Amino acid sequence: MFKYQELIRANMDKLAENITTEQGKTLKDAWGDVFRGLEVVEHACGMGSLQMGEYVSNVSHGIDTFSIREPLGVCAGICPFNFPAMIPLWMFPIAVTCGNTFVLKPSEKDPGAAMMLAELAMEAGLPKGVLNIVHGTHDVVNNICDDEAIKAVSFVGSNTAGMHIYSRASASGKRVQCNMGAKNHAIILPDADRDATLNALIAAGFGAAGQRCMALSTAVFVGGSEPWEDELVKRASSLVVNTGTANDADLGPVISRQAKDRICKLVQSGADSGARLVLDGREIVVPQFEDGNFIGPTVLADVKGDMKCYQEEIFGPVLLLMKAESLDDAIQIVNRNKYGNGASIFTTSGVSARKFQTDIEAGQVGINVPIPVPLPFFSFTGSKASFAGDLNFYGKAGVQFFTQIKTITQQWKESSPQRVSLSMPTSQ
Ligand code: NAD
Repeated sequence: MFKYQELIRANMDKLAENITTEQGKTLKDAWGDVFRGLEVVEHACGMGSLQMGEYVSNVSHGIDTFSIREPLGVCAGICPFNFPAMIPLWMFPIAVTCGNTFVLKPSEKDPGAAMMLAELAMEAGLPKGVLNIVHGTHDVVNNICDDEAIKAVSFVGSNTAGMHIYSRASASGKRVQCNMGAKNHAIILPDADRDATLNALIAAGFGAAGQRCMALSTAVFVGGSEPWEDELVKRASSLVVNTGTANDADLGPVISRQAKDRICKLVQSGADSGARLVLDGREIVVPQFEDGNFIGPTVLADVKGDMKCYQEEIFGPVLLLMKAESLDDAIQIVNRNKYGNGASIFTTSGVSARKFQTDIEAGQVGINVPIPVPLPFFSFTGSKASFAGDLNFYGKAGVQFFTQIKTITQQWKESSPQRVSLSMPTSQ
């Protein structure tokens, strides 16, 4: 893993170029995609202590009990298109350092980075056959779910695929962890630092063209902060939309024509159901790439909880604006939403922040932090409809997911003649 870490660092630019070419995000953003995965490799370098068991000496006369974590065998991972390097790296470095072999299915839309990462892993000395890549879509996924040799499945992607995989793989006795869709909210209190908050909303709403599971896709302005909307729209409209390789690009295209059509339809449905379309990026044309799947930053204001554009994950550069009378009302809006990947508050009030962190029903909570994805010594802790399973990715939970615990009770004492007893053994 140390060698692997070094090789990934040396190949950051090549990996980022591949991601930008296949997926479309800007080069700088693609670099971040690799970097956040690299952090998991660094975390896996400490596997020796991460998988340490527990030992209690002399639980009874001459008896010690200890637990060890053993590998499961063959594990598998199924990946989405939006982080072609980071998400494979969430999975196999932890799995193989726990002693498992791994079958990885990258997204069929951008499998290049996963292939490069596998080659680098071989170069770093991962034994042949430990990491295996299969390509394909539904049939390959179903075979992974059904194959008796596979003991655990990690999935990241949409709810439709995730819930199918969760039930099919569990039905054949596997342990499964599924990270799925999201609708992440930001609550903005009028006492927040205006400039920093607006920049955070822009970066987390439109970065990667909104194709991040932790994108902030809904901003809830609480009494008094509404006038910030105009400045937000002004800043959003100044972002540069271009190919990911262009130096000036703030955001690139979305992944496909189908994705563009779906996003545009959801924006239209919002406008048709009464939301105010205050910034419309659907007709944007990027010179020399007239057929590209570009969408400019788009903002829908006065969005209500029953609108389709609010209930469904848009996964594009579209920010929804809502209003709330008070912090309590804003928290209720967030908690009513079925997803629970992340939520953030922007405020200078410690009391409000503390209330938010206690009452909010989301797995990853940000206080003046727009995308609160922790470093890998914590786990990625999406909740509600954003996660299925009970052991999250990486961190302590990741190690537990990829290992089976075994508890050993041993007795070593001088033998002495004893009467046989058939009663239940107890520690005395
Ligand atoms: P997707 O569900 O379409 O595809 C993910 C994987 O599942 C792919 O490898 C694909 O081949 C496979 N797949 C798709 N449909 C399938 C089906 N019906 N049966 C079997 N396999 C199927 O997801 P995507 O469009 O690649 O990625 C975007 C989604 O991923 C968004 O919903 C986003 O929120 C989510 N995501 C979540 C996280 C997280 O950590 N919560 C991280 C990244 C992305």
